[in-house]
Amino acid sequence: MSHDQDHQHYVRRVVLPSGKTIEVVYFEDQVVNAPSVSPVFDETAADLHICGTCDSELVYPVEWDEAGPEHWEVTLRCPNCEWVGSGVYEQDHVERFDEELDRGTEALVRDLRRLMHANMEDEIDRFVEALEAGHIQPEDF
Ligand SMILES: [Zn+2]
Repeated sequence: MSHDQDHQHYVRRVVLPSGKTIEVVYFEDQVVNAPSVSPVFDETAADLHICGTCDSELVYPVEWDEAGPEHWEVTLRCPNCEWVGSGVYEQDHVERFDEELDRGTEALVRDLRRLMHANMEDEIDRFVEALEAGHIQPEDF
């Protein structure tokens, strides 16, 4: 009786030093988390921020859920091609993704600052042009 009919759990026979035999029952969810079982995706899996469908680097997480002590179930979405998918990823893998997202946010903030700066320069330029062209008179103030 090493395997059960429904495959929901299996039994492992362990012989103790005393000579006694005990049966250890493993249930399916415990087997999944056992260290000998390799995760769904390994270290060589592609970076999570890159879309597998269109190669866009803008994939972001919609939902995260703990899936065991060192794994996360992450639902991802690509804003470029509307691809949505989920998978179970290792802690390290998800941390790298998190760092990538931080970098993305920083880049976005930098772009926004540059844009604000450019807009201000644009306004100043227009104001100077209007002044020089005599379109702004003292009575405007
Ligand atoms: Zn995509």
